[in-house]
Amino acid sequence: MTDGFVPQAAPQLRIAAFRAEVDAAIAAVLSGGTYILGEAVAGFEAAFATFAKAPFCVGVASGTDAIALALRALGIGPGDEVIVPGMTFAGTAHAVLHCGATPCFVDVEPESRCIDPDAAAAAVTPRAAAIVPVHLFGAPCDMPRLVAIAERHGLAIVEDCAQSHGASLDGVALGTFGQAAAYSFYPTKNLGCIGDGGAVTTRDPALAVRLRSLRHYGFEGAERISHRPGFNSRLDEMQAAILNVLLPHLEASNDERRIIASAYRRGLAGQAPFGEPVGLPLDAPGNVYHQFAITHPRRDALAARLKQGGIGTAVHYAPGLHRHPAFAGSPQVDLPVTERLAATLLSLPIQPEVAAPAVARIIEAIARQVVAA
Ligand SMILES: *Cc1c(COP(=O)(O)O)cnc(C)c1O
Repeated sequence: MTDGFVPQAAPQLRIAAFRAEVDAAIAAVLSGGTYILGEAVAGFEAAFATFAKAPFCVGVASGTDAIALALRALGIGPGDEVIVPGMTFAGTAHAVLHCGATPCFVDVEPESRCIDPDAAAAAVTPRAAAIVPVHLFGAPCDMPRLVAIAERHGLAIVEDCAQSHGASLDGVALGTFGQAAAYSFYPTKNLGCIGDGGAVTTRDPALAVRLRSLRHYGFEGAERISHRPGFNSRLDEMQAAILNVLLPHLEASNDERRIIASAYRRGLAGQAPFGEPVGLPLDAPGNVYHQFAITHPRRDALAARLKQGGIGTAVHYAPGLHRHPAFAGSPQVDLPVTERLAATLLSLPIQPEVAAPAVARIIEAIARQVVAA
């Protein structure tokens, strides 16, 4: 793939790499007859709990549901405020709305692009009930400081790990710092299926019981008695079967992402397309590079140049969530770092199947000195 168009992401290439095993896994589900909450889901939950270094894993229908059900299982609802970064995917804040609480947006740090602990502490009001730190692009939030703030104010922490499967901070797995962690298996995530899927991990056995109940009509065990208002939010057998094929290869894939990120760092350091320097993501050792997002003052021009050179890019995320009409009910805030990042971030291809063969070409396209006509 050195001449054709290089897409920003191509989940079908990941599936293609394991196609025979995926086909066999799907065939087994098709002929098995249990399509909801069967062996594939139970097997995946056990394997993913081990991978995520959490005692319990509950498969749910999406990453958004994973956050919403975790908040609900922690008792968060109407009248509560949940502190979330302004720079994240919209699903993080929708999950807060789903449980009836109010998302309170705070700014992120310019280097890590993750929630600023000082801003989170400053946003705590008597109604604050939880913080949802997002390990954006696979890079770790400052969890020790966030945990200290949460403990001081009696807040829960639900880590949004939708972009950080397998990431760590100083050797400690992300997703193990808070009461619960939410994962998404949307096709383009580091671990993705071919539809929607998600999971919550926790070390709290009672929380795991409530989550299993919430995802399945409020039932507990096999009895069809609704003990609480519940949902239909299950990871399905076919998605779980595919995830069971891909999970054993996740660590190697994350390693490849790190190698590609290193190549980008070497190739892009000191480069100044349009006479302006390229900003690189923080070099955190535990980063799993869901995205490799650079910053550039002329982001749109750089994206256009890359597109002309046959290279796809994406903007994650603009505008900041505090500017979305859906969240107009949240406290109005000024988030200067979120604003600046929303105007300058550009995600390069980083999925190994896409980026590994094209990384030199991408660097060259960014670095190229264009002579004015
Ligand atoms: C993808 C994503 C979500 C939502 O996950 P879905 O499975 O699409 O519902 C939430 N937060 C972040 C940071 C994400 O990247």
